[in-house]
Amino acid sequence: MGRSSKDKRDIYYRLAKEEGWRARSAFKLLQLDREYNLFQGVRRAVDLCAAPGSWSQVLSRKLQGDGVKIVAVDLQAMAPLPGVIQIQGDITKVSTAQEIVRHFEGQAADLVVCDGAPDVTGLHDIDEYIQAQLLLAALNITTHVLKPGGTFVAKIFRGQDVSLLYSQLKIFFSEVTCAKPRSSRNSSIEAFVVCCSYSPPDGYVPNMSNPLLDHCYDVNFNQLEGPNRVIVPFLACGDLSAYDSDRTYPLQLDPEKEYSYTPPAQPPISPPYQDACFLKRNNLLVREREQTPAGTPASSTPTH
Ligand code: SAM
Repeated sequence: MGRSSKDKRDIYYRLAKEEGWRARSAFKLLQLDREYNLFQGVRRAVDLCAAPGSWSQVLSRKLQGDGVKIVAVDLQAMAPLPGVIQIQGDITKVSTAQEIVRHFEGQAADLVVCDGAPDVTGLHDIDEYIQAQLLLAALNITTHVLKPGGTFVAKIFRGQDVSLLYSQLKIFFSEVTCAKPRSSRNSSIEAFVVCCSYSPPDGYVPNMSNPLLDHCYDVNFNQLEGPNRVIVPFLACGDLSAYDSDRTYPLQLDPEKEYSYTPPAQPPISPPYQDACFLKRNNLLVREREQTPAGTPASSTPTH
């Protein structure tokens, strides 16, 4: 596939490169901010599951001024970003929470964002379950680092048990909304919970042995009634005239400006496909071209 045909695939992917964002996800946070004014008055922010770093880039461009501190956490190494303190760590570990608080010199964060996603298996039930676990882990670490009144924004999969997650979040935040930015594909069950006014239950002591993670699946949470049933407002956010992430656009968007290819702002540090690229670059991906006795081409399976 040529470079330009790759660019045709997704408008936000292309715009991200043109504007210097490390990933197209930057637009999701920007569109959420436009709707919720997330960054107003924020000085200490945490970006959970941050690699390759486009949300951290958004935070560092949007949060300016004295005393601003941004801490980014990911299991994977991330290329350095000016103004962003990086922790290579696991958000399910209490040591990670302690390290974040150390960087804030004992003070709590005003905003925690989490775009965490596990490696998708393609098996929807499993993907939804793992994503839910990651969200609860993010909520758990957030209870260690967020100030009362603070905001938490996290990726959520709107699967069949999403009501349970909303109920858990409502225990800790007075306002919970589910938002779908324009840059998040309609074909994806991904959305984002925007949880405002952090107010943990009286006497709640943050801990990492997460009782929320051990819920019982004998209950059908969607059939809960009365005060046990939490309905969270759903909002399609972002300017509706913005690009549609499910559409394909012509390469030349601006009739006045000729299209030219832009390389990614930050290529992955050690992607899983690195070995294959090395073999290809060095012409080591040899394919068998001999003819079979019947005269048909032999298998074209790569020999490396
Ligand atoms: N928001 C990022 C950006 O804009 O560049 C993209 C985040 S990417 C979709 C999801 C990230 O979640 C991956 O980098 C992955 O390593 C991270 N992740 C998954 N589980 C994690 C965990 N337990 N602790 C820390 N990071 C985790």
